[in-house]
Amino acid sequence: MRTTSSDLPPISEGAVIVEPKIMENSVNRASPILAPTINPWSFRSGMQDLFPGGEVGQETEIARGLEALHIPDLKIISSPGLLAFYSRDQADVPDLLRNVLFNSLPDAVALPFSVDAIPSVLRYAAKKKTPIVVRGAGSSPLGGSIPVNKGIVLDMNALDRVLRFDASQRAVKVQAGIRWADLDWLLEQHGLCVPCTPSSRFSTVGGWVATGGIGISSISAGHLSRSVLELDVIDSEGVLRKLTPRDRDFRSLFGSEGQLAVIASVTLQTKAKPASPAPRLTFFPDHASALNYSMSLASAAQRSMDLTYFSPAKFDAINRILGKYHFPVAHGVLSCY
Ligand SMILES: Cc1cc2nc3c(=O)[nH]c(=O)nc-3n(C[C@H](O)[C@H](O)[C@H](O)COP(=O)(O)OP(=O)(O)OC[C@H]3O[C@@H](n4cnc5c(N)ncnc54)[C@H](O)[C@@H]3O)c2cc1C
Repeated sequence: MRTTSSDLPPISEGAVIVEPKIMENSVNRASPILAPTINPWSFRSGMQDLFPGGEVGQETEIARGLEALHIPDLKIISSPGLLAFYSRDQADVPDLLRNVLFNSLPDAVALPFSVDAIPSVLRYAAKKKTPIVVRGAGSSPLGGSIPVNKGIVLDMNALDRVLRFDASQRAVKVQAGIRWADLDWLLEQHGLCVPCTPSSRFSTVGGWVATGGIGISSISAGHLSRSVLELDVIDSEGVLRKLTPRDRDFRSLFGSEGQLAVIASVTLQTKAKPASPAPRLTFFPDHASALNYSMSLASAAQRSMDLTYFSPAKFDAINRILGKYHFPVAHGVLSCY
């Protein structure tokens, strides 16, 4: 395994390491990047606080087997109450359907606090022929982060550190469990941003690589993969691999939904944060002209960061909520530069 901090790539001159954990606690006066404020938009999960002494129920054979391995930096969750939390994602599937279709209660949840803990979990799962389901924020409503036939949920939320920040190269290496809102806020202190993010900014960086990566500013910045310089992934045999865009398997990881490997860390190319976006809402009498206008914006030299279509019904509803005629009841296109 090449994941200990001494094995991390050398930090170039002028680089600053940012650790969100320190930021949350208050001020680190040694580092210029750490502003004496707390990120008001933080979605950090605080897993350490949630399970301070571990949460071991040892209700299942799989949980007991995992526990017997005494893997350092790993917490195992197996009490039914907490397992129920991991049998859901953002989708609201009625219980009746859920119970008929899936056995979505995992045998155990493995919560690594170090990447080094992951290979042993994967090898144990392979030996026991039990499924591994990787989980970020559970914000995808498509069931990818919940078990369909028991198994071990690998919860990535405690792996939420910034590992390396190179201001001169505008590159940042983060663990997969960091939330987009937290990363963005940290970069903002340097006038930088990630070229595109999902609108679910409470989701994890690894989760968005795993689900595909199209979101805010993708119209101008392209697919997330264009902003990724390197991926550290752990395959099912527990072997850590570094993938860059030159590697054949690199693209396959985007949209792989945790089926090919666990994404441990992601190195992103950032860019200067643009001045506050200027939104423009344009109204059209019919759907076709709104669509034509959107197409022309999408192919224009200066690409809009974001394009959203609003139907007349939506404006009608907004007017009614506001209690006054605020918007024309027409087809609207919201563009942002
Ligand atoms: C309000 C809202 C807005 C949204 N907006 C967008 C959007 O703009 N664009 C968009 O694409 N999606 C969007 N989504 C869907 C979802 O938030 C994204 O797909 C998000 O990136 C999923 O990240 P997550 O951390 O929640 O992953 P999860 O939901 O936990 O997992 C999603 C999948 O990724 C896998 N996975 C998670 N982490 C890892 C890892 N480290 N290694 C390997 N596999 C992993 C899981 O096994 C699962 O298959 C939105 C959802 C909501 C609720």
